[in-house]
Amino acid sequence: MWDLMAGDRLRYGAALGALLVAAALLYLVPLVPQAVMDVVFLNQPERSSATSRAVIELLGGPDAVTDQPWRPIPLIAVIALAAGACTYVRQRWSAIASQNVAKRIRDRLQDRIQRLDMRAYDGLDRGDLLQRCTSDVDTAQTFLSMQVVEVGRAIVMLAVAIPLMFALDHRMGVAAVWLLPLIVGFSFFYFRRVRAMFREKDEAEGRLTAAVTDNLVGIRVVRAFNRQSFEIERFRPRNDEHRRLDAALYRVFASFWATSDLLCFMQQASVVMVGAWLLATDRILVGEFYFFFAAVGLYLWPVRMAGRIVAEFGKATVAIDRIEEILALPIESDDDAPTDAAPTASSDGSIVFRGVSFAYTADTPVLREIDLAIADGEAVAIVGPSGCGKSTLVQLLLRFHDPDAGSIELGGIDVRRLPRRTLRTRVATVLQQPFLFSRSIRENILLADPGADRGSIEIATNEACIHESIMRFDAGYETMVGERGVTLSGGQRQRIAIAQALLQDPAVLVLDDALSAVDTGTERTILEAIRSRRGRHTTLVIAHRLSTLQEADRIVVMTADGRIDAIGTHPELLGRPGLYRRLWDIQRDLESESSASEEPAPGATP
Ligand code: ADP
Repeated sequence: MWDLMAGDRLRYGAALGALLVAAALLYLVPLVPQAVMDVVFLNQPERSSATSRAVIELLGGPDAVTDQPWRPIPLIAVIALAAGACTYVRQRWSAIASQNVAKRIRDRLQDRIQRLDMRAYDGLDRGDLLQRCTSDVDTAQTFLSMQVVEVGRAIVMLAVAIPLMFALDHRMGVAAVWLLPLIVGFSFFYFRRVRAMFREKDEAEGRLTAAVTDNLVGIRVVRAFNRQSFEIERFRPRNDEHRRLDAALYRVFASFWATSDLLCFMQQASVVMVGAWLLATDRILVGEFYFFFAAVGLYLWPVRMAGRIVAEFGKATVAIDRIEEILALPIESDDDAPTDAAPTASSDGSIVFRGVSFAYTADTPVLREIDLAIADGEAVAIVGPSGCGKSTLVQLLLRFHDPDAGSIELGGIDVRRLPRRTLRTRVATVLQQPFLFSRSIRENILLADPGADRGSIEIATNEACIHESIMRFDAGYETMVGERGVTLSGGQRQRIAIAQALLQDPAVLVLDDALSAVDTGTERTILEAIRSRRGRHTTLVIAHRLSTLQEADRIVVMTADGRIDAIGTHPELLGRPGLYRRLWDIQRDLESESSASEEPAPGATP
């Protein structure tokens, strides 16, 4: 926290200073009426303290106050105004300092998340990450802006009040503080004991939010399966649990305030009782009695809150630890890439996988000894059973992960020697379920090349067969995508993502099952457009449809255990027995079955 406060330490220190002054000034307010009562009205200057006499001198002496009893009012007003100004400064500056710290934490978190190592990211729970970036940051902010300040206030108020009171009258001093340790200790231990309840309630709230979010996101699935009542029934116990924990917490609060109020009244009552006795036996003056009563009223509230806040410090510590955990996660480093001599842009899209093996977790290898050389400008299709590691192969090329063994070269350079930025400018990937941001279509496409002009965008969207669909929207390219805008079909999303990739004009274009939601005719047109660019980039297509595979120069067939089974052209692979021919036979049978069943349907809309 200290580190994060750089730039605001002075302001925060000044806020704490203002707190100190405000607390001291607050006690001056009852000091004035006390002096007036004892020195002037009771006419007992010799029995009053030096402070009281000094106050009366400041007001022009006892006679002036007797003649003009309103004289203390401007002084009280000035003191109160000064205390108010200090409180304003304290609140404002501590808020600014803590907001700046929170902003710095959020910036650092965002910075770290953007550069997080993919393996570290895979190990994170997204909901939990979100909570760390939002409510944990809020907790840290509250800690600085309120909790430290409140505890500081209680300490300062006591530090000012105790010497003042004991200087006036030590018997009254004892009567005014003897219960304080019990009041602070009680709130401290009480809230420590019930801390687990707060946590439980927070967790229940988390579960409730997760249930609601799940239902909102999956609303179509719920409706489609007629599961509304089931979901309502499933929600009910979670809601009940939340209510139960919330009610338990309020029971706890009720008993806390009741007991704490009792202790505070006892503290005040002891001041009154002892004060009344000392007054009756003429051992103190009425002004002093008044001052003690007022002083107790000033510090009781901050003191009882302090115990509770200290008990909650643990919560802030946990939140800060959770934030630090994220800030300590490894980031994608370019350690191997030469920093000074970063290779300049190259259009050489040749790729070589040399003995590449990889596993996400140590005991389950995904890719085993992959050897594959792809020439610049070649179109290669990768086919294989689902889960055999096709996408992983592409992710290794993009350096989302590094292989456990072997190496990958792009344009003759080991990808580990290329800065990731350069690498990812040269390789463009379109995923099966591309993600589009809640921005306009134009902004989404421009992600690939922020400086592109309208002409280049339209060339790319025409090649991806999406230009006309975009123009059919009222706002055209300015149409907003996502929750507050239009809902695009899977095929439209895929085509926008392809346009994005084409606009990037990469050395290598990777289509990771990126045409699965597009109809066969459109798919053919897109592939033709890509083919007409042949030579401009190497194309890697992960696909299942045989029509797509046929378009490739060569086909790589992978086995379920992550090895390469065969590499060849479509006729070559068909010509020999193996995985590819079996796949071909199955698909052909399926296609003929479906066309046979479709043909005789009378009255069917074509
Ligand atoms: P394909 O693209 O051929 O369908 P993938 O490359 O997506 O296959 O996945 C290969 C295997 O690796 C699968 O068994 C999958 O469960 C596993 N896998 C994929 N991504 C991860 C990940 N981020 N963490 C752990 N395992 C993963």
